This record gives sequence, structure tokens and C-alpha cells, in this order.
Amino acid sequence: MRHCIATVCLSGPLEDKLAAAAGAGFGGVEIFEPDLIGSPLSPAAVAARARELGLEIALYQPFRDFEAVPEERLRRNLRRAEAKFEVMHELDVSTMLVCSSVDPEAVDDDALASEQLARLADAAERHGFRIAYEALAWGRHVNEYDHAWRIVQAADHPALGLCLDSFHVLSRRTSLSTIDAIDAEKLFFLQLADAPRLGMDVLQWSRHYRCFPGQGVFPLADFTRRVLDRGYSGPLSLEVFNDVFRQADPDRMATDARRSLLVLEEEIDGLRSSMPPAARLLGYAFVELGVGPASAADTQGQLHALGFAQVAAHRSKPVALWQQNDVRLLLNAGAAPGAGIAAIAVESADPGACARRAQALLAPVLDRSRGPGEADLAAVGAPDGTSVFFCTTASRWPSDTWLSDFEPVLATGGVKPTGIRGIDHIALAQPFDAFDEAALFYRSVLGLSPLDSVELAAPAGLVRSRAVVNDTGEVRLVLNVPLLGDSAGEQLRLQHIALSCEDIFATARAMQARGLRPLAVPANYYDDLEARHALDPSLSASLRELDLLLERTDCGDFLHLYTATIDGRVFFEVVQRPPGYTGYGAANAPVRMAAQRAAAPDRPLAATNGRRE
Ligand code: MG
Ligand code: MG
Repeated sequence: MRHCIATVCLSGPLEDKLAAAAGAGFGGVEIFEPDLIGSPLSPAAVAARARELGLEIALYQPFRDFEAVPEERLRRNLRRAEAKFEVMHELDVSTMLVCSSVDPEAVDDDALASEQLARLADAAERHGFRIAYEALAWGRHVNEYDHAWRIVQAADHPALGLCLDSFHVLSRRTSLSTIDAIDAEKLFFLQLADAPRLGMDVLQWSRHYRCFPGQGVFPLADFTRRVLDRGYSGPLSLEVFNDVFRQADPDRMATDARRSLLVLEEEIDGLRSSMPPAARLLGYAFVELGVGPASAADTQGQLHALGFAQVAAHRSKPVALWQQNDVRLLLNAGAAPGAGIAAIAVESADPGACARRAQALLAPVLDRSRGPGEADLAAVGAPDGTSVFFCTTASRWPSDTWLSDFEPVLATGGVKPTGIRGIDHIALAQPFDAFDEAALFYRSVLGLSPLDSVELAAPAGLVRSRAVVNDTGEVRLVLNVPLLGDSAGEQLRLQHIALSCEDIFATARAMQARGLRPLAVPANYYDDLEARHALDPSLSASLRELDLLLERTDCGDFLHLYTATIDGRVFFEVVQRPPGYTGYGAANAPVRMAAQRAAAPDRPLAATNGRRE
């Protein structure tokens, strides 16, 4: 199918929007009229620019408030249409979108609407054009697609057909069964948009919160499949009004948009899809932490107390491998921009297949500067700037894996493990404008499933948090983003690595014996915990002593603790997860964030936004 995107989806002047669409591999665009009106380029110049970029202009939109009006108004509307047809000739576009009227003068008369739309279609036909009639969800008299279809049927004009817009159909929960009765030659255009479930006025919902397919809750695969089953052969075209996307980099957004269509097609095609399937992930091979002058000693100190030892050093880079059991962390002293999670590496049975899928989904392949004889690790860049590696780690070492890039260091006198068994989850702070994009990226590229979003209150503002996990729970990522961009404080950019253990009391005691105090939890928290749960007094005393947090769940107690924040950016969590529990102790997150704030009162609340450098 051809992929198109409406210019309204992207930020920037019209020529930037066109360039972004072409750069992401779209075959065409819908020209959103205000984008043209505000452009210094003539329609002919826009057409020429689109041609140069290999873009078809597939739709001119929207033409508003046309039908079911008094005769005098109709004459004026037809004159307005003639002027737009001249623009369409210059733009070299043959289909105009007419959305159902919201004009207070329009009357509730289907026969009149049909007759007037037929007159518009007559005029369009004289130019060789077509009219695609769309029921706006908030249209004055026509606000459901099946109603628009009855009007189009009654008009019975070859130049008049329907535009189906998934938002208008699915937001009103109109039955989809009428789609099965629409003739293919009357399906002139298909616009796709998803949206989160929100209880609000449908116009506001549409204008501000639409998102790309797969980023909301609409059953878009089912909807699109029904339209395709009728024989629709026009483009799949995205029309998304979104406050955040309009503020984001158009090239990145266009890539995100195109990825959403590739994922949708894969969902529709199922096994017939040509997309390389997601390979099974077996956990994390390593996590790479950047360390700078301000964070190296703290990071090493915390790792040591957590029971990790440096076991190897990279042969050619300033990278140290720290390990406990099979948990491997790389400390990279050469990574920009200093402290923070620079890379995650997932363990896969077939890293090549992972990389091929990532590439097919438009993930940027990273160029790794390799020394002679070093392992060729496939890596792609995530929207938040994190590198994602795909690898297979042999259990023996050295061997022909990424581990063979490392030289063992001399034993430094036996660090005793503390019972850390694995990486439970990794929490990544997302730039304000990359949240939906990141969720779709990790979901599609790594084959992870998104869980529901939760909103958490930090002293510096609200944080939205969403986990994406694989089906075995071996790969869990938590994506966090400040709800409002410009007020994003440093605190809202924190990342963490959560390490799992089987006996958190023993682990916490071992850490404390090595001099590491966890993040201090206020007594009020424990008073409340005791009020809510009839806690065993000895359990309560241990929680207080060790600064442990508890979430009592149907699966058992989820217990966790945090280390101090390193260089205002990154910290560790230790968790004891009861079998079957799929959460992250979200109820405790505000307490944690307040405690972090209390521990660093001199750090600015409002700092630079979390954008990538
Ligand atoms: Mg539309
Ligand atoms: Mg966590």
C-alpha cells in the first residue's frame, strides 16, 4: 500500500514537512490547507517541490461547511470551490476532502445535502477531480460515516465518494458493519489516526490528542482490514492532530509515523507480512553506563557495595566490565554526555534477525567504531538516544562474542556477592516529545508489550510512566516522561537500573555492611504502611531499619530499595519481586521521588528540558 501523511501531523514550514515526509519514505502527502495558505511558496512551487522529493499530493483538505445550505449560500460555496479547484490544478492533486458541515445555517435535510454535494461533484468532475465526503464526529447534522454513506449513495454521482477517517468512526463507536456494504469505487480515501481513551469533548479529543496507529487504544487493524477487504486501493494516510507531535522534530515524527504504518500492516497481514518477525529475547546481555569525572567514583562505590566486581577491561576503549553472577554492567568513561544509561543490550537467540527487524522498522543503525578483531555488535538508536544492542553471550568466556573484546583484570581480592541475580527492569527518562514514539519503538522493534500508563507525582511535577515488557518478563523497560515539557526539572530526567534478588533483607544488610546507606525513607511512610496493612512488627522494624519500600499485592509483597542518585542522573534499585507480580511498586514512586528531592535540596527543580543533545 502507498503510505501518505497529512502535513498537519508535522511541525515546521510546509517545505520542511514535505522533506520530512519524503525522508521517512512516505509516497505522498495530504496538503492541509492552512499549511499552504501560510506558505510563501505558490501551489505550483509546492507541487514542483513534492515532485522533486518523489511525493504524490494525494489529497487537498479540508473544504468546510459546504452542504445543506440555502441557495444563496450554496452559490457562494460553489464559487469558493471553483477557486480551490484552480489551486488543485496547480498543486496537481485530484481529490478534495469535504467534511460534513458544522455551519449553524446548515439544515438537517439529507436530500438537500445529497443534491448540493452532487452539484459540487458536477463542478469537480468538469475539472477531472473527485470529492471525498467525510463525516466529522462533531458535524452539525452528519457526524457518523454510515450517515455520510447514505447521503453519498443518494447523490449517486461518480465524482462523489467517501473519506473514512478512523478517528471520526472509532471515537463515536459507530458500528463498523456498514463498511462491509460500501462499494469499493466509493471509498475515495482512508485516513488513519489512533487516540488514547479520554473522557472529553470529541472535538478537543480529536484536535489535541490523536496519535499514530498503535499508540492509542483504537482497534485500527480491524478497522483498516475491513476497508481493505472491500477492495479499497488508495493510500493509507495518517491524519494526526497532536499538540506534542506538532512541537517535535518533523524528521523524527515522520519516521515514527511511517513506523506506525509498517507495524499496522504487519498486524493486518499477520503471517503474510514481509516484516522480519521479532526474535525471542532472553534478558539483558549488559547495560552500559556512562561515567564522567563527577560520577565515576560514586558509581564504582555503589557497584562495589552492591556486590559487583570489575572483572575485565575493554581492549581498546575506556570501558570496564563489572559483574555479579550473570549480571553485567559496563562503565564507559568515554561516553557522551557523561552519567547515565548509554546503552542496553538485549540477549537474543538471533541478533541478526533482531537487527534486520529494527532496520525494517526504520531504526537508525549505529556505526560502531571498532578496533581490529572486535565483535561486530548490531546496534540501533532509540528515540531517546539510548543505543540498543542485540547480542548472544556464550556462557563460556573468552569466546567469540562481545565478551572477547574484554581482557580479564587481575583478581582484586574477592568481592563477595550480595545475592543480585538479574536485571529486573531499566527505567529510561524520555524527552518530553518522545514518549509515544519511544513506546512504539520499543514495542515494535523489540517485540515488547506496553502496559497501561500511570501518572506519578514528584515534587518537581507529574511524571507519566509506561512499562513495555516481553512475554517472559525477562526484558522490562519503564519509560518515564514529564507530563509538561518546559517545566521539566532535572528530577524528572532520572534513570535507574533495577537489580533483582531473592532475599532483599540479606542483600540490603550486605550493602549496609559495606557502608552504602540506601535512599532514606521517611518515618511517615512506614506509619502509613502500618495503618494500611497489619504488618508484623518485626517486618515493620526491618523495613524501617533497611529503608525498604513495600507494596502488598495479590501475589505477595513487592519489596524494593534505592541507592543515592549519582550526579543527578542515575541510581540503582534493588527489588524482590513476588512470582506473578507484573508491577513496579508504582504506589511507592512518589515517596521515592520526594525522598530523592529531600536528599538533594540544592539541585535545581527546573533545569534544562530532557531533550537529546
Ligand atoms: Mg479527517
Ligand atoms: Mg523501578
